[in-house]
This record gives sequence, C-alpha cells and structure tokens, in this order.
Amino acid sequence: MRSFSLVFALAAISSVVAHPIHQARELKIIGRDTSAKFIRRETDPAAELKLLADGNTAFRDSLQTSEPELLQKLTDDGQSPPFMFLGCSDSRVSEGTVFNAKPGTLFTQRNIANQFQANDNNAQSVLSYAVSELGVNHVIVMGHYGCGGIAAAIIPSPPNQIDAANGAVQNWIEPIREIFRTSSRPEIVELRTKNAAATEIEEPDIKEPGFRALVEENVKANVARIAASSVITNHYALLAANATGTAERRSGEAGPPTDVYIHGWVYDLENGEIRDLGISVGPAGKTIPAPPFAAVAESAVNSASSHNTPQPAATAETPVKRCEQLCKAKRSLAGMFGARMN
Ligand SMILES: [Zn+2]
Repeated sequence: MRSFSLVFALAAISSVVAHPIHQARELKIIGRDTSAKFIRRETDPAAELKLLADGNTAFRDSLQTSEPELLQKLTDDGQSPPFMFLGCSDSRVSEGTVFNAKPGTLFTQRNIANQFQANDNNAQSVLSYAVSELGVNHVIVMGHYGCGGIAAAIIPSPPNQIDAANGAVQNWIEPIREIFRTSSRPEIVELRTKNAAATEIEEPDIKEPGFRALVEENVKANVARIAASSVITNHYALLAANATGTAERRSGEAGPPTDVYIHGWVYDLENGEIRDLGISVGPAGKTIPAPPFAAVAESAVNSASSHNTPQPAATAETPVKRCEQLCKAKRSLAGMFGARMN
C-alpha cells in the first residue's frame, strides 16, 4: 500500500532518468529509494481491493460506535468545515489519517507537492468555495519531508519529454525548480552547488538539509501565493469594510465573512509529527492564533522573512467593487454544491 499512489512522483523522476542529458552534461539520478520506491506486489488484485472494502466497513463500524448521528447530521445540515487543507497527493500524507479527523472537518485539495498556482482552476475553485461559501477559518498548506515531487525538482527539466503526461508532471514541478534555482537559503545553496559539480545526482536522503529546506520553502511560497490570491485579498477587503462600516454589504452571501488565517506546516513521514513554519498570516488587525505545533528548526523560521506577504490595504472604494466580483464568483459556484446554500 505504501507506494501505489506515488506513480506521479515516480513518473517525474523516471522522466529524468530517461532524459539524462542537460546542457551537454550527463546527469543521472540514482538511488531513488526514498520517495518513490516501486514495490512489485504478488497479491491477488481482488484481495487487494478487498482491503478498501474492509477499511470502509471498519470506518462505518467505528463511527456507529463513537458518533452514530454524525453522517446523517452532515447529510441534513450540510458541511461546515473549519479547515481547508492543501497537501501532497502522497499516500503517506492523508489528512484524514494524520489529523485523525472525522468527516466534515477538512475541505481538501491535494496535488503533487502541495502547490497553489494562479492558473490552476482546481486549487483556485477549492479555495474560493472554502473561503466564500463554507466559511473556513483556517487554510493550511502542509508539505512533507521526503516528498517525491520536491526530490524531482532538484534536477533540471529534461530537454525532451517522453509524452504529454510526463510533460505535465515536469511543468507542474517547475515552480519548485525555480525555488531551488534561486533560493538563498544556505542549505539549498549548498545542495545546488554540490549538484552543479556532479554528473550523478543521488536522490537526497530524507534527512538531507537542502532537501528538507526545499520542502519548507515550497510551503512558504504557496502560503504566500494563497495570501496574495484574489480570493484572499477580496475576502480581507470585505472583512475590513465590514469592520469600518464602509461596505455596502455587511456580510457575504453565505453569512458574515469569517476571519481566515493561512498557515504553513510540514509533516515528518518518519514519526508523524507536524511542525509549524512560523509564517501564518491573517486579516489586518487580527491576532493570529498560535498553531499548536512546535516550530521547525531555527534556520527555517529565520528564512521566513523572505516570503512575507504584505497585507492587502482596503480602501473606502475598493471593497464594494471587490465584493461585487466576489459575490458574482460565489453565485457561479453556488450551483456546483447542493448543501449549505443558506
Ligand atoms: Zn509529496
């Protein structure tokens, strides 16, 4: 079970293996056992599927014992999750598992290396619906050490693509390559310098400082992108206008706008621990609640300043216009989900 959903990370690295030539210098990635080891299983496919059926039975039995009304309540009342979660698709980082969370807790987006991009309609629509309709209080970006998508990004993009699928993976991790190419964080600089002189690049160990730093910097970059997104800047402008009484609307269509805080965390595959990167942001004038996790190493916290995102400044004019845009967006989304359209 450990590796079956790692095919995309595997594909990213496989394409690097298949196209080792870069700038007339042969690069090979070797020893890729950490993030995307492919294990051939000698199991009966039907028996393998039965694992999921057994799991579903255990889940229903457990809920029937602990909270027998929950599923019907969520069906009748609709969902109202306090959290939106953006995490990696890696099978070892399932948000329901690592937070021991019940249904109705986390509105979720997962993709390779937990990225939020302006041109990704999937992530944009999840964030918009979470903030504007569901009224989540927290948006959490959580990366993880040992991430295959991050490991693949330490290698330059191959000059030729095998096929469209591999091209998609390569394009997807390009923003992480950009961080690797440009970051001034010492651990990343050291790894980049070491790789620049190498003809064989070994997939970094999960404890490699540069690898861990790149995982952390990728989380920071995505927290910054979310904070700078139109969804969040519009929402913060609406909050500010409500606070000063300058908004035409005192609330969003789905109820009063909620204070939304954005957090950056990282998960440790080896022990299941979550660490806080110390980069949480929130609406202007609000005290950001302290995440209940220990901080990452001091070097990571100290480098957070390079990713600080300025708070959007609301003016007397802009909130109304932004609200119009926001409400239009919310109406267009309203038909997509049946519940909680009060
Ligand atoms: Zn990952």
